[in-house]
Amino acid sequence: MSGQDHRPAAGQGLCLKGMTSEELQEFARRQGWPDYRGRQLAEWVYRHAAQDFADMTPLPAAVRRRLQETAALGTSQVQALQQAPDGTAKFLLALPGGDAVETVFIPHSYGGSVCVSSQVGCAMQCAFCASGIGGLVRSLSAGEMVEEVLAVRRWLKGATDSELPRPVGTGGLRVTHVVVMGSGEPLQNYDNLLRFLRIAEAPWGLGIGFRRITVSTAGWVPGIRRLAEEDLPITLAVSLHAPDDGLRNQLMPINRRFPLDQLIPACRQYAQSSGRRLTFEYVLIRDVNDRPEHARQLVQLIRGILGHVNLIPLNPVAEHPWQRPDPGAVERFARIVAGAGIPVTVRREMGTSIDAACGQLRRRVLQAAPETAMMAREPRTGGLWVAPQGLGEARLDYADRLPHGHREIPADQ
Ligand code: SF4
Repeated sequence: MSGQDHRPAAGQGLCLKGMTSEELQEFARRQGWPDYRGRQLAEWVYRHAAQDFADMTPLPAAVRRRLQETAALGTSQVQALQQAPDGTAKFLLALPGGDAVETVFIPHSYGGSVCVSSQVGCAMQCAFCASGIGGLVRSLSAGEMVEEVLAVRRWLKGATDSELPRPVGTGGLRVTHVVVMGSGEPLQNYDNLLRFLRIAEAPWGLGIGFRRITVSTAGWVPGIRRLAEEDLPITLAVSLHAPDDGLRNQLMPINRRFPLDQLIPACRQYAQSSGRRLTFEYVLIRDVNDRPEHARQLVQLIRGILGHVNLIPLNPVAEHPWQRPDPGAVERFARIVAGAGIPVTVRREMGTSIDAACGQLRRRVLQAAPETAMMAREPRTGGLWVAPQGLGEARLDYADRLPHGHREIPADQ
């Protein structure tokens, strides 16, 4: 596995989160400990989501002391938390190395998905997205992506800061799926992404099968081609959002670098080599890309590729002028795609009342004063809300969730 990145925060030791079981055994050997100590470490880092070496009580006290001196666990702090009445919860996690990143928990009837961010900010600058507004800050390490999932697991188990609001309506739910659809372009952070995927899948790691993992890309063609050769049975979601280069150049600047005549063949290659159905994400924006002729062009573009279309009525972002489409336009669009024999879904509404589009919560917190965090209950919506001072006035009326297109994932994926 390449791209190892265990950068500790200043003054801390080697970060164990993000290391494989084999690497943890090697770490144990270097300390003069038997291999099984490394396997124990994997169990405590990943399965038990330990926040502190002191919690690893089966390990001898001398071992725990040595770990405190030489290693780090990369535990995040929940800086802000919003929860909608339907149970969707959005976290802003302060990472040990500085920076804050958004993670979302989405409950389903059969379990729950964690939407993982792969970068702080994003370089892709999609026209309708809050994450791209400030540009890319940095890519996340594999351990930081793992920590996003573990932070949600701790919260669901109640093993987290006692001052945080408890989960609502998610009783007994577990994290069963991972979608890498938060802020960032994951395929631009390829090596760390791949390491994360392997740890997410491993029985000694997060134990989430590849078939329950989805990676979303804005269309980073070299990454799609590389991923096609890895032979991992994950689902790839490609954000199309426009059926021709002219419109896609406006909505997604990445299209100028990788236009549709490069992107679509890469998608075809991925579907053929993985045998997995691609998801084409399509954010519908009123009077921009939601007309019947756009639907017909989309059909021509992707016809013959094993895939389905996920339509996402836009989440308006205050900083951009785009508007949500009329329900009639959404229905018309879906009917044309379905009529051509291409499976189509319209994203169900979830997480109403929270800063739903990706990057919105982080931007609001950065615009306020993060050092003066306080908790409150959001009065109008009933959503639980932990916020820096000043955010109580923030708009919480965004209609639904993330521009990347979270969706109800069938239980068999
Ligand atoms: S939609 Fe995704 S790829 Fe585009 S700017 Fe936002 S986070 Fe980046």
